[in-house]
Amino acid sequence: MDCRTASALIDAYLDGELDRAEARALEAHLDACPACAAALAESDALRRALRDPALRQAAPQELRERVQATLTQSATSDRTASYRPRSIRPAWWQLAAACVVAFAAGASLHVLDRNTTVAGNATQLSRDLFASHWRALAAASPFDVASSDRHTVKPWFAGRVAQSPLVRDFADQGFALAGGRIDYVGDERVAVLVYRHGRHWIDVFVLPAADAGALGTIAQRQGYTLETITLGGQPAAIVTDMDAQELANFAGLLQR
Ligand SMILES: [Zn+2]
Repeated sequence: MDCRTASALIDAYLDGELDRAEARALEAHLDACPACAAALAESDALRRALRDPALRQAAPQELRERVQATLTQSATSDRTASYRPRSIRPAWWQLAAACVVAFAAGASLHVLDRNTTVAGNATQLSRDLFASHWRALAAASPFDVASSDRHTVKPWFAGRVAQSPLVRDFADQGFALAGGRIDYVGDERVAVLVYRHGRHWIDVFVLPAADAGALGTIAQRQGYTLETITLGGQPAAIVTDMDAQELANFAGLLQR
């Protein structure tokens, strides 16, 4: 991959929109190219800065009242004007009202947005986790490092994610460690432990604490189940198509 292609893919990468092959090709380039790695870090930092709640402003009460008044006035004059030929150009006050309404709509959406953020994050997060699991199943291999040896898998995560997860093998109990991978969930890089139980693949996502608080304990989609657990003190989510009993057994082992 050349720098031009890499820089065109950086935003999609941060949005989690690349498939795993593309993401891996980009990561290989980023490992070798300090300039593109710097561009990614910069873009990531900008995104974080723009999410700062301090940048958002709610409309003042006085403005809300004026908008209400303008809307009432506008509705009245629309009714009286309906049988008269109308000027093609909107009057200045209509334009002004439109601007105020747009601002107010933005402001009230923001209020709504704030109230639904927690639930919205949870929904988006669980959607991302299911999508990551399915993407991995569809890929040539559901892991980036293949090993049943926790002494191989754990160090592999070091340097790739902020906190290396607790890695254990449960082959004796029927849940064999198969490997690990890094995936993007939202815009966070997360460690994924991959286990195998019979014909079932199991992903264990180790989540940033801030995200996990919003996630419910269990979610289901198209025959797959997501269950949140605590793995060595870190919040985590299991995604798999195992049945409830198998999942409970596995969750019990992980949390022991
Ligand atoms: Zn480059």
